[in-house]
Amino acid sequence: MTSELLTIGDYELKLSEVLRALSELRAKRVLVQLPEGLKRYYTAIADYIRSVADVEVYLDGSPVYGSCLLDLGKTEEYDLVIHVGHDPYPLGSRISSSRVVFVDLEYIGVDLEALLIEVEKYLTVCGSTNIAIVTTNQHKKLSRIMGERLKNRGFNVVLGPLVVFGCYTPPELKKSEVEVVLVVAGGVFHSIGVGMVVRSAKVVRVDPYTKRVTDASREVSKFVSIRLKKMYDALNARNWGVILGVSGQYRPWVVSKIVKTLKERERRFYLYTAPILDINVLRNIDSPELDAYVVTSCPRIAVDDLAEFEKPVLTPSEAVEVLEKGSIGRYPESLL
Ligand code: SF4
Repeated sequence: MTSELLTIGDYELKLSEVLRALSELRAKRVLVQLPEGLKRYYTAIADYIRSVADVEVYLDGSPVYGSCLLDLGKTEEYDLVIHVGHDPYPLGSRISSSRVVFVDLEYIGVDLEALLIEVEKYLTVCGSTNIAIVTTNQHKKLSRIMGERLKNRGFNVVLGPLVVFGCYTPPELKKSEVEVVLVVAGGVFHSIGVGMVVRSAKVVRVDPYTKRVTDASREVSKFVSIRLKKMYDALNARNWGVILGVSGQYRPWVVSKIVKTLKERERRFYLYTAPILDINVLRNIDSPELDAYVVTSCPRIAVDDLAEFEKPVLTPSEAVEVLEKGSIGRYPESLL
């Protein structure tokens, strides 16, 4: 019998949905998409798929930073697209095709007991009662177990685990009486995204790779003060470059809002399309006439990658705040 589980490095893939889709769709041409950093495992996945079905397997060499970048045009070219390691993008309306299967990529290298000891120690010292847990695709199972174990040990887990994205934090986190948000994820990327928009709760990073549990507020404050400075620098910008993305990073409602606000505030603006955006692309399109940019594709590009650019590069919500208010107050409660 074919195993539905495949282990690649420290990750486990549950492939029951893939097996079902291969048979139901009678797929012949299959495209696999792995996140950056894990593409070296493509060969193992291709071998697995070829061992269970007589198909041609194609491995996507282009950047797959998130499910937002899933290009449904590809479902025209392939019978099945297997997208590994991201949940469906919550703000995309164009990824509901039955020819796309999302596969979780669970990190199984974690020392659960050691991590739980650290989490309990932290929560006991900080003394907060209402706890929410958020996570990413790689740690959903771990986060579920963590939530249950914390509840059993008397901690008041009121929400989660919920999945967060670099640009999207579930609104429940802001509405509920949450005092502490545990962000179960590697590195600082997701805890910073949550901390920038959730004001009412302490954001705590739980890193399954390092087993460290740390308060994210210092890093978050650093990022927020840089963003407020960028917004301040854009207050008098007359001429704006508006950068549009592709696939789920093209959000027409965000673009319309920016364009409407720029028109109302009598600013000149130019619309650029850029499927890939980095400092070199921006330098290439930059013109002396332009004073500021707003990135409507991935807001984290403005926050994480373009903060060094010599002109202010804002997220959509930062730009709207600057243009509508004409002054700087609190940081907006959304990155989009
Ligand atoms: S942060 Fe950027 S890459 Fe990640 S989901 Fe949002 S738009 Fe996509």
